[in-house]
Amino acid sequence: MDTQTIINAAYLLAAVLFITGLKGLTKPKTAVRGNKIGSTGMLVAVVVTLFDQQILSYGMILVGLVVGGAIGAVLAIKIQMTGMPQMVAIFNGFGGIASALVAGAALLEVSGGPGEVPGAQFLIASGISGLIGSLTFTGSFIAFGKLQGIVTTDSVLLPGRHVLNVLLGIVAIGAIIMLVTDPTAFAVPYLAICLLAFVLGVLLTIPIGGADMPVVISLLNSYSGLAAAATGFVLSNNGLIIAGSLVGAAGIILTQIMCKAMNRSLLNVLIGGFGGEAGGAGSSADDVYGGKVTTSSPEEIAMVLEDAQRVVFVPGYGMAVAQAQHGVKQLANVLEKQGTDVLYAIHPVAGRMPGHMNVLLAEADVPYDQLIDMEEINPMFAETDVAIVIGANDVVNPVAKTDPKSPIAGMPILDVDDARTVVVIKRSLSPGFAGIPNPLFAADNTLMLFADAKAGIQDMVTALKETIDA
Ligand code: NDP
Repeated sequence: MDTQTIINAAYLLAAVLFITGLKGLTKPKTAVRGNKIGSTGMLVAVVVTLFDQQILSYGMILVGLVVGGAIGAVLAIKIQMTGMPQMVAIFNGFGGIASALVAGAALLEVSGGPGEVPGAQFLIASGISGLIGSLTFTGSFIAFGKLQGIVTTDSVLLPGRHVLNVLLGIVAIGAIIMLVTDPTAFAVPYLAICLLAFVLGVLLTIPIGGADMPVVISLLNSYSGLAAAATGFVLSNNGLIIAGSLVGAAGIILTQIMCKAMNRSLLNVLIGGFGGEAGGAGSSADDVYGGKVTTSSPEEIAMVLEDAQRVVFVPGYGMAVAQAQHGVKQLANVLEKQGTDVLYAIHPVAGRMPGHMNVLLAEADVPYDQLIDMEEINPMFAETDVAIVIGANDVVNPVAKTDPKSPIAGMPILDVDDARTVVVIKRSLSPGFAGIPNPLFAADNTLMLFADAKAGIQDMVTALKETIDA
C-alpha cells in the first residue's frame, strides 16, 4: 500500500468519526460522547496530515502547535460561558482568514514553480477560498464587536446597500474569472478578491441587529467551513474537503434551525438585509413600566410556590451570568419533594449561544426529559401555576407578537404570560440583548424579584423551606 492510500484511508476513518460525532451531537444525552468521537476524528486527520512531510518542516509545525495551542488553551480556560459566542465568532474569523492565506500561499508556490500551468479546479477553488475566507474574517470580527458591545448592536442600514453588495459580489466574481484566465498575473486579482470580500464581510454583517446575531454567527460558521473545503480543493487534501464540507453543512443546518426559531427567512439572512429597522420599537420604558410593576419578596413568592401543582422554570442569559443553575436545581428539588411537577422551558436563542441553557442545566444535573422545547411547552403554560423567569428578557417579551416595528418582531417567544403567576428574577428593569422594554414585567400576573439570579434563587430556596416547615 502506498503512502497516499494510507493517508486517504485515515482521512476516511476521520470522516466516519466526524459523522458519527455529529450524530451524537443531535441529542443532549449523547452530545458529550459525540464531541469526543468528533475530536478523535480531528486528531486522526491532524496526525496524518503532519506525517505528510511535503507540507512544512517539523520544526515549523512544532512552533505553530506550541504557539497556537498555548493561545487556544489560555482563551478556552479564561473564557466565561457567556463569552462563548464571541470566541466562536473569532474562531470562525481566523478559520476563514487561514483558508484565504493558505490559498494565497498555494498560488504563490505554483507561480514560482517550474512553469506548469495550474488547473482550473486549483484556480477556481483558490478564488472561492479567498472570497469566502476573507468575507468570513471581517464579518466575524464585526459579529464579535457587536456581541462584545464594541460595535453598535443596532441595524446599520446604509442606503443602497443591496445594490452595493451585489456590485461588489459581481466585481469579486470578475476577479476570480481573471485569476482563472491568466494565472501568471494572479497577484492583482487575488488581492482584489480578498479586499472586496473584506468590505463585503463588513457590509453583510453590520445591518444585522437586535436579537438576530445567533443566526449570523451560525452562518459565518458555515462560511468558514466552506472556505476550508475550497482550500481542500486547492491543496487536493481530502481530509480538509470532508471536514470543511461537514462544517459548512452543519453550519447551514444550524442557521436554518435558528432562522425557524427567530421566524426569519434564510434568503433574507443570505442577502444580509434583515434585523429590525433602525430605531426599533416606539414605547419608552416609562410608558411601559410607569407605576405598573409589582415588586415581590422571596417570602411572598414562597407562599405562591407552596400551593403550586406545576412550576416551569424559564432560564435566560441572566441565569448564565449569575451561574444560578445549581440554585435553580436546588429549588426544583424542594418543589418536587412537596409533589410539584417541575419543567424547564427552553427557547432556542435564550442566552448567548445555541444550546446555552441546555449546557448550563445539564451541568446542574437537571434530567433531560424535563427540558421542554418552546413549541411543546407553550400550550402547557395555560396549565402552569407559576412560571419562574430567571434572567430571561427578550425570549419572553410579548412585544415580539404585538409590535411589527420592534427589533424582535415576529420572533416566537415563550408564552409565560399564560401562566397563572409569573415570577421574574432580574436585577433591575434594564433591557436584554435587543435593548427594548418588556411589558411582561408590568403585567397584572407578574411578580418582580429584583435580585442577582443566584442570590434571589437561594433566598427563595430558604424561604420555601421555611414556609413548608412552618
Ligand atoms: P436577554 O439578553 O434578553 O436578557 C437578559 C436579562 O438578564 C437582562 O435583562 C438582565 O437584566 C438580566 N441579567 C443579567 N445579569 C443578571 C444577573 N446576574 N442576575 C439576574 N439577571 C441578570 O436574555 P434572553 O436569554 O432572554 O435572550 C437572549 C438574547 O440574546 C436574544 O435577544 C437572542 O437573540 C440574543 N442572542 C442569542 C444568542 C444565542 O445563540 N442564544 C447569540 C447572540 C445573541 P438586569 O440587568 O436587570 O439584571
